[in-house]
Amino acid sequence: MFCPECGSTDKKMVGDICIDCFLKEFQLITLPERIEIQICSHCNSKLEEGKWSEENIPEEEIIYRALERNIEIADEVENEIINLEIEQIKGTIADCYVEATGEVRGTRIEETHDCEVKILKTVCPTCSKIQSGYYETVIQFRADSREIKNEEYAKADEIVERTLIKQSSNDKLAYCPQIAKLKEGYDYYIGSFKTGKKVAENLKEEFGGIIKESPRLISEDKSTGKGLYRIWISLRIPEFEIDDFIRYEGKIIKVTSIGKNSVVGVEISADKKHNIPMKNMENIELVKKSSEIETTTIISKSPQFLQILDPIDYSAVDLDMDERYEDLNVGDEIKLIRIENNIYLLI
Ligand SMILES: [Zn+2]
Ligand SMILES: [Zn+2]
Repeated sequence: MFCPECGSTDKKMVGDICIDCFLKEFQLITLPERIEIQICSHCNSKLEEGKWSEENIPEEEIIYRALERNIEIADEVENEIINLEIEQIKGTIADCYVEATGEVRGTRIEETHDCEVKILKTVCPTCSKIQSGYYETVIQFRADSREIKNEEYAKADEIVERTLIKQSSNDKLAYCPQIAKLKEGYDYYIGSFKTGKKVAENLKEEFGGIIKESPRLISEDKSTGKGLYRIWISLRIPEFEIDDFIRYEGKIIKVTSIGKNSVVGVEISADKKHNIPMKNMENIELVKKSSEIETTTIISKSPQFLQILDPIDYSAVDLDMDERYEDLNVGDEIKLIRIENNIYLLI
């Protein structure tokens, strides 16, 4: 067969031309001479087809990925090997070099390409929100009828921080731009509602209490009529603490634990365990703090009475005998709590 390109007559033909002439024209890969990518200068996320993605990837890796995405390999190529190289980065422009080898119709061929990758630095919408101190939720950390203690604030700060770290793997707005330290409690400003809700739940898990959400309309999008809401989430932790004495449904109970959904305690006159749903917190009354526990001594014991010394006026007080007192002996020291003129021994 005769090749119209080179005039040879003894070569394998590909269509109308010989294999050599075909391979001379053949391109293993195609890629543009210049590629532009937009990345966020804060989080390195990149804009592609209108969407920001892949944050926190090193710049070189972004360049390699941009090259990879822009390289097209011809259909006929087999066993290709493509090497990408960044020759130098000058300012926002990376000079790159692409080396490709592959087999076409049994012949291995090689080619090189130069490509310039330009990085346009901008700020993605999330980072611009973060920079402006944007927040969707405010967590109001409050206590019922008392001040919050320093150690409770420290614990709350720690919980907020831990939650943000955990959430940040899937929520870019898991951050706290501001903590307002008010007399009545702290206000934690949280970037997203999703993470804000998680923060409130984790605080409740530690302290118990009641969560209330109140959305406030911030502004309205005039074109859509849709409102922009910010959600205030208040967590009111109980007035009582572990070891305090509470009244619930007429019973005096010493609190042994406070959880996310319930308060557990022991009824002091009957040694009976109670589990009170946290949602009934409104009906729990604090009657005595654990700091008001007093200590006294047993002065006599009979089948009918146990006699103790009142630690305030040193008078003798007779308590009706109870099976819980059986192991007590004269001279023993014992703890008591005084609630409305009644003395309860704590055994
Ligand atoms: Zn030819
Ligand atoms: Zn960003």
